[in-house]
Amino acid sequence: MQEESKVVAGLDPEDWEELKAQGHQMLDDMLENIRHVSQGPVWQPMPASVREGFRDAPLPASGQELGALYQQFTQTVQPYAVGNRHPRFMGWVHGGGTAQGMLADMLAAGLNANLGGRDHAPVEVERMVIRWAAEMFGFSPEATGLLVTGSSMANFIAILTATRNVSGGQDLRQQGVGGRRLVGYAGESAHGCVARAFDMAGLGEQALRRVPMDSAFRMDMAALERMIAQDRAAGFEPFLVVGTAGTVDTGSIDPLNALADLAAREGLWFHVDGAFGALAKLAPELAPLLAGLERADSLAFDFHKWAQVPYDAGCVLVREPGRQAAAFAQSLAYLSREDRGLAAGAPWFCDLGPDLSRGFRALKVWFALAGFGTQKLGQVVTQSCALAQELARQVQATAQLQLLAPVTLNVVCFRVAAPDVEDLDRLNGELVKDLQLSGVVAPSTTRIGGVLAIRVALVNHRTTKADIAILLDAVHSFTEVRLAHAKMMKELAGAPQA
Ligand SMILES: *Cc1c(COP(=O)(O)O)cnc(C)c1O
Repeated sequence: MQEESKVVAGLDPEDWEELKAQGHQMLDDMLENIRHVSQGPVWQPMPASVREGFRDAPLPASGQELGALYQQFTQTVQPYAVGNRHPRFMGWVHGGGTAQGMLADMLAAGLNANLGGRDHAPVEVERMVIRWAAEMFGFSPEATGLLVTGSSMANFIAILTATRNVSGGQDLRQQGVGGRRLVGYAGESAHGCVARAFDMAGLGEQALRRVPMDSAFRMDMAALERMIAQDRAAGFEPFLVVGTAGTVDTGSIDPLNALADLAAREGLWFHVDGAFGALAKLAPELAPLLAGLERADSLAFDFHKWAQVPYDAGCVLVREPGRQAAAFAQSLAYLSREDRGLAAGAPWFCDLGPDLSRGFRALKVWFALAGFGTQKLGQVVTQSCALAQELARQVQATAQLQLLAPVTLNVVCFRVAAPDVEDLDRLNGELVKDLQLSGVVAPSTTRIGGVLAIRVALVNHRTTKADIAILLDAVHSFTEVRLAHAKMMKELAGAPQA
């Protein structure tokens, strides 16, 4: 007879009461941490010892106490995160997250649902948020869609869907794209993931033609038409145009209605990368900027940026029913799964993208949309854009600062242009590093019209006017320090040798 002690135990805790106490502690600690996030530094570099602790850690053969692991987390991970929860994280288009979203994610992890398919409530939650997303952007309720990691994946899925819906596109699924000379178009300021999607789709990055921008950093429509005509004349097959609603560099929005007209005329698939900008649709006074978005064949956007859903939560929508499944479903069996039992409820999400196993992202998206409502989320967008306008005004009112691009949404590009400084790119680049290392405020850099710009992207729902004032003060103080230092060095160099 087998001894009881030889039976392998599962992974549930031995003492549930102890685990509950630990869980409550973690929850309280993290909620307090979020509550007071603005009092700490935006970011601080990880000490070498902490980094080495990770790099040298051996694969654990036996386990340790949850309490000990939690302590390691609070000491070595939590203080050295990227900082996007902080109201003065302005460097990149990252969402700030919410405490409510964290709780939703905890519930989702507790349920451990797999949303690839089958007949269960979590799948209905995702169908509901996809239907809501379609409504938010003026798509019909029949539109299909999928929650994914982010807009990089959403753009990739949309671009694959477009290739499978060209004439004869179904054959490409068996034979590959090698025999076709498919080409697509996107603005020069389109996100790098669009070119990457062309690469991953097997079309090659060169098959993505980059259209020059006009003076407002929007796609130049005349240039686009010329490029299409030239490609057709040279025997290429134009199949897709990608408009960006909110470019990462300047927040500009491509002329979406003109792109929709052109796509209809030329028989192209019209995709919009609205990673963050599409959410401006929720702000009544900004929504008109996105006119034409509702005419897109597909849309990629993120809930984890302006909608503040914790990472990761991107979304792809495809207007016409059947198109997305035509690109991904592995056989028509997807339409004729069982009529009852766990295998009912077709079509499944695994028929609309590459993933079979999929987590319950939909819960945190549901909690965000239903918990805050679209009006409140729209107000967050409005607030970010109002702060961007305020910053732009202050930049323009300051002699030493120069605004480098018009402010459409929430991105402000400017630079310090002190007289007497020869290398302004260097000054501004060093300033941004000073600011990041100070922990006070974290902008980033980009290049606008050949010059280095300080880039401020306002996405976080916690950012206020006071944070803009702190940013400007910090830019001013660090500039003074650098200029004083440069002046001293010059004087020393000019001074007679002792
Ligand atoms: C952020 C962003 C992306 C990439 O989205 P991820 O969610 O980071 O994958 C693509 N396009 C634009 C315009 C973006 O702002």
